[in-house]
Amino acid sequence: MPSSLCEALTNSSISFDYQKEDDWITSGKLGSREAVLVFRTNILNPKIRKTLSEKSSAQVLTDTKDNEEETVQCQEKLEQKESTSSEPSSKDSLSGSTQQKIFLLKKPQQCDKSDKLTFSSPFKKILNRYSSSDTSISSEGEEPASSSENKSRVLKTSQNTINIKLAADLSKESGYESIAPAKSISNTVVSEEDPEVTSEDDNESGTNMPASKLKITYKFHQTETKLLRKLFNVHGLTEVQGENNNFNLLWTGVHMKLDIVRNLAPYQRVNHFPRSYEMTRKDRLYKNIERMQHLRGMKHFDIVPQTFVLPIESRDLVVAHNKHRGPWIVKPAASSRGRGIFIVNSPDQIPQDEQAVVSKYIVDPLCIDGHKCDLRVYVLVTSFDPLIIYLYEEGIVRLATVKYDRHADNLWNPCMHLCNYSINKYHSDYIRSSDAQDEDVGHKWTLSALLRHLKLQSCDTRQLMLNIEDLIIKAVLACAQSIISACRMFVPNGNNCFELYGFDILIDNALKPWLLEINLSPSMGVDSPLDTKVKSCLMADLLTCVGIPAYSPEMRSHYDQKWSRFRSSSCQRQATFPSASQKTKKSKKKGPAINLNLTGEEQRILRNARLQYSRRGGFVRIFPTDDSMQRYGNFLDSANGIPISTPNVQSQTFQTPIIQHNYNQMLHQNLYSKDGRQKQEDNSEADRIWQYERALETDSEIPFVKKPTVEKCEVEGRRLRKVMLKKISNGSELTPFQARQTFSIYLESVLRRLTEDPKDNHEKIILKFLNKFGGSVKPPVMFRNMQNIKVASKARSAMVAKLLGDFLENYKRDTEAYVDSFDHFGMIPSSAYNQFLMHAQESDLEAVLTLHTNVTGIMPFLYNRCGLSVPPTPPIPSGLHGFLRALPSMVSSTGINRELSKYDGYFKSFDKEKIFL
Ligand code: ADP
Repeated sequence: MPSSLCEALTNSSISFDYQKEDDWITSGKLGSREAVLVFRTNILNPKIRKTLSEKSSAQVLTDTKDNEEETVQCQEKLEQKESTSSEPSSKDSLSGSTQQKIFLLKKPQQCDKSDKLTFSSPFKKILNRYSSSDTSISSEGEEPASSSENKSRVLKTSQNTINIKLAADLSKESGYESIAPAKSISNTVVSEEDPEVTSEDDNESGTNMPASKLKITYKFHQTETKLLRKLFNVHGLTEVQGENNNFNLLWTGVHMKLDIVRNLAPYQRVNHFPRSYEMTRKDRLYKNIERMQHLRGMKHFDIVPQTFVLPIESRDLVVAHNKHRGPWIVKPAASSRGRGIFIVNSPDQIPQDEQAVVSKYIVDPLCIDGHKCDLRVYVLVTSFDPLIIYLYEEGIVRLATVKYDRHADNLWNPCMHLCNYSINKYHSDYIRSSDAQDEDVGHKWTLSALLRHLKLQSCDTRQLMLNIEDLIIKAVLACAQSIISACRMFVPNGNNCFELYGFDILIDNALKPWLLEINLSPSMGVDSPLDTKVKSCLMADLLTCVGIPAYSPEMRSHYDQKWSRFRSSSCQRQATFPSASQKTKKSKKKGPAINLNLTGEEQRILRNARLQYSRRGGFVRIFPTDDSMQRYGNFLDSANGIPISTPNVQSQTFQTPIIQHNYNQMLHQNLYSKDGRQKQEDNSEADRIWQYERALETDSEIPFVKKPTVEKCEVEGRRLRKVMLKKISNGSELTPFQARQTFSIYLESVLRRLTEDPKDNHEKIILKFLNKFGGSVKPPVMFRNMQNIKVASKARSAMVAKLLGDFLENYKRDTEAYVDSFDHFGMIPSSAYNQFLMHAQESDLEAVLTLHTNVTGIMPFLYNRCGLSVPPTPPIPSGLHGFLRALPSMVSSTGINRELSKYDGYFKSFDKEKIFL
């Protein structure tokens, strides 16, 4: 450590309780360059958090000892069991003193009858819980699953515990500290989509945590995930906002500005690489992979369905269609969550000039109990040169709500053909598992549950997972070249960037995985305890693995000074490469033997890779592995190790006259050398497969904290409605904000009706409304005419609900711009109006909006500020009722009478008197 750094540390006024500090810092002692923060999910549990802050060191010690004793006992039991098992031993995990991690592995071959029942009757179990009559989606011949059976399954799972893994890989002799990722079952729902956590809970901060004392900060940019915010807060990180770039971690939902990247100090981390849109934009991804298909051979890169980018490749699409008939799936190029996707039988059904990505539709997907499914797996890249890729051990399997039927008549049905949660959640048959242990229940499973399920059916899950790993590596290789050159140009330090990608993978019924897309910033919204468990473990493991340096403010300012001197001389990362004389510099740090032939930069890379691996938690490193050079060496440039995807620039792009390096080769040689002098990494194929298949269990529960919901009082709503109507009749007006609030709550109840009771709805009116006012939310072309969808069905309602849900999301976001904190003369006071909104039913909201429209002659809530001036609206007539009585002919001056005659008859009992007092 440089002496000034030591001084900075010694002068620091921060003093820690070292017992605790060791729990939260790893990879080195506080003050060392390698020390990073530890993130755990168990402190999301308020009880555990309280205990942590109340306990004295002595108590912590005692507890730790107890845990260790317990662990040893369990371990002994397990070892007895394991002696009869052929599973890999716990060799990849050594015990850490104060940290406990419990993985429960339900060994597939040990599954007994009760397990089988659970695995093969995912829906029946839930259906019994919710409705006893509907058997339409239960599986054949299974006994009904009761909640007691559910309990017995959970008990069974506990009995099948065969291993307790107390983490970390590098032995004490090696000098590396081990870190065991703790994983907690969390019933706390912290969601972007369904926020369930109280604000009080959100505000809790870990003031006793080292990160708080070290003043470690994070910054969100164009993103907000409650789960992440909560993790940061309870670990003691504080948020910085606005233009303040004094963050330790920047978490953005979008690609980063290059000037931010250029100026990153060595201790700063950001969650994206520059140019990673090469992977995450559908059109770019397909083009990159196609290039590799041409360059390296189709047989090596046959990992995506055949794809065309329209309109440029319209002709090629037609030629391909004439060779092998459709169907084709049409997706907007830069879209997500199933928005704007539709399936056609032939290219002539795609509107001309549509800007879209069109892929061959995979007609024979893997189905679970007849339902199409696809996978979301989480891939972490911590470096592109050398390439370091991890796959998270647990993923999410998403099932379509309606049973799969490949007949062309059903192609319109998104709840049969698309597995997106954001579509299927609107289907009234959609089932959420209600317990974190229910990994194979309802329409969302875990990856490990799917693997166990497939194994029971004698599928080769080992080969499946190896193929998925291969697909991931090849997709990254195909896009890496351009990202590496951007990193060379803009990223000043090797560790600044990391990225978590959400890979969407479809498995066909021959168990071949197909890459559908790669998501930038995969959603961390959670809708069930299962989601919460997987995603909070994922995020805690991610933050620990990536490593946020545990630097004091003094250490940071030391680096800042050094860094600004460095920046003024060069902003190119290459400038940090050591001179040849540095090659022989001996490292005094403890650890595996250092190869003296390595440059300082190479030693740093190697040491970082090892430390990161020791903190990986549930991440499985899939590149490099012991055979990666054998398998993928041909795709890398022989001189510099860069994956090359452009034919004519091999070995040229990355050569500099000064330094020629091949980090991939260097890393592989040092991690997997067979000469026995160095510790070999142990992520063997068997270890990896075993990790994917085991069930994830954790050591503490987090209570489900529901957002307090105010019970609506119908009588009070009606009373307040009268008050509001009177005020409006007397000349008071709603502010633009109030009008928009009212309209969005009104639309919410229309939406609720659509999903809860699909028979009773205004689907045609909603589609018409979206066509007119939906902005970017437009019904897909083939649905713009409802005649195309002949049968009214739950799926049709779900499709319309999804569109309305998307519109509402945008609408609410726009409404925030109208917030007005003052009460203006002639307007309805906000406190009184909020009271009304709190209790108003759909009919109350409609009454107020109707009267307000008729008095003012306009519907300003339909337009955004930046639009043209609000056009006059014909009055809303009384008597006929519907979705705000079809928004007076969609505010057009023509066809009023024609439109009015088409209203469907919701609110039949709703009479004129009730509307107008
Ligand atoms: P988005 O980014 O909008 O979610 P995806 O590419 O992930 O778009 O596709 C959405 C859904 O459509 C997937 O969940 C999958 O079920 C289905 N899908 C996408 N591409 C194909 C395909 N080529 N063949 C079959 N199904 C597909």
